[in-house]
Amino acid sequence: MNGIVIIGAGECGTRAAFALREAGYSGSVTLVGAEPHLPYERPPLSKPMGETAQMKLICTLDSLAAAGIDYAKGVSALKLDADAGTVTLSDGGLLPYEKLLLATGARPRRLACPGAERVLDFRTHTDAEAIFANVGSGASVAIIGGGLIGMELAAVFRGKGIAVSVIEAAPKPLGRAVPSRFAEKLHARHAAEGVEFYLERGIAEITGDGVVLAGGDVVQGDLVIGAIGVIPETALALDAGLATGNGILADACLRTSRPNIFAAGDCAAIAQPGGGHIRFESWRNARAQAEIAARNMTGAQDAFAAIPWFWSDQYDLGLQVAGLPHPAHRSVVRTLPEGELEFYLDGDRLVAAAALGLGNGLAKEIKLAEMLVAAGVDLDPAALADPRVNLKALLKSARAA
Ligand code: FAD
Ligand code: NAP
Repeated sequence: MNGIVIIGAGECGTRAAFALREAGYSGSVTLVGAEPHLPYERPPLSKPMGETAQMKLICTLDSLAAAGIDYAKGVSALKLDADAGTVTLSDGGLLPYEKLLLATGARPRRLACPGAERVLDFRTHTDAEAIFANVGSGASVAIIGGGLIGMELAAVFRGKGIAVSVIEAAPKPLGRAVPSRFAEKLHARHAAEGVEFYLERGIAEITGDGVVLAGGDVVQGDLVIGAIGVIPETALALDAGLATGNGILADACLRTSRPNIFAAGDCAAIAQPGGGHIRFESWRNARAQAEIAARNMTGAQDAFAAIPWFWSDQYDLGLQVAGLPHPAHRSVVRTLPEGELEFYLDGDRLVAAAALGLGNGLAKEIKLAEMLVAAGVDLDPAALADPRVNLKALLKSARAA
């Protein structure tokens, strides 16, 4: 028996390795990771508590050893031969597998303008370390991309008294994943904190002084950070002849076009009941898919059906989004002392919810809202809006119904 090989020792690959043992798998488990560290979490990188980049480990060497997981640290998988069932490694090794999990994640999208090589990525601990070591007070930072990374970093740098400019191609920041009500509130907070926004602006060139915008304006920056989204790591799968698109294509059970090869996490695009494939880019998704993939590699047939969920911390504000809000949904707002909850209804059916408030103050409410979404029931918009109506009571009657 050749056992199970996992390529990628990020959140997804590492969680899957442990989940295999929790599912009772007793064969060999090999976790191959290109980065030179023990597996670590990415979210703390853009939310550092102190001066330096944080390293929050997912597991220790001891816990890997105790679970019997063979961790190939700092080793890249160079080639996948799906016919032979082998993976060629950068250390010269050839790993045979019975089943394989591709958990290769994503890499930052790069700009293509002159001087683009000066732009710093923000994806790995090594990236974060290099950036935080080079920005002190009095420095200025230009961030290209007003998405989740760009805005989290803007908050961190303003907290250190560093001048921050955000250049965004769209008319407003956070337009992709954050519901517009809360994107606007966060935008206003950043502006009040002194972040300079350059919206709907193209980039002409990156120079030693900063960013030259289309039209000729120059945005000063001692450092220029790129945060314009990610591209799924599909090269191994593509070269091996697996079906790919915006990610490695997988069915609802996370199986790729080769039945003994699974894909999960940021790299995987999962078949949807109504057709098409969706790739989710969030921490909880990586963990949830890891657990499903591990169970299915050991013989289960579980379909992935978790409700998408992510959070973001900016200044003292915490944002959480459960489900996939869409501008076409009816919005219902509940105002609470800690902040606001917004519910999204398709007809009378609750399909998503989001919360923006101080710190983690709305964690309990968003958890209940997520359970209400999962219940898949029709709800009275007036009850959702009324802070005197207990969400737990709504959930109880939804479940009873
Ligand atoms: P990754 O974390 O990208 O891990 C993939 C790993 O595979 C990498 O270590 C890579 O080096 C390795 N690899 C790739 N190819 C090979 C190969 N050929 N051989 C060997 N190894 C390989 N999500 C949230 O929900 N909330 C947050 O607040 C949040 N904050 C974030 C902050 C930052 C700065 C970043 C970058 C992401 C954040 N995310 C957040 C997103 C979340 O971290 C990702 O969705 C999650 O890490 C995806 O996990 P993954 O294991 O699929 O991919
Ligand atoms: P992102 O959230 O996709 O945002 C990228 C932003 O850059 C978008 O607003 C995009 O606008 C803009 N953009 C694209 N091309 C541009 C250009 N040429 N010039 C200026 N702006 C441009 O990606 P990200 O912030 O880079 O984050 C990377 C990954 O980390 C994502 O997977 C993200 O989900 C994850 N992450 C998650 C969290 C969290 O959940 N809290 C936190 C940090 C990171 P358009 O939308 O118009 O293209």
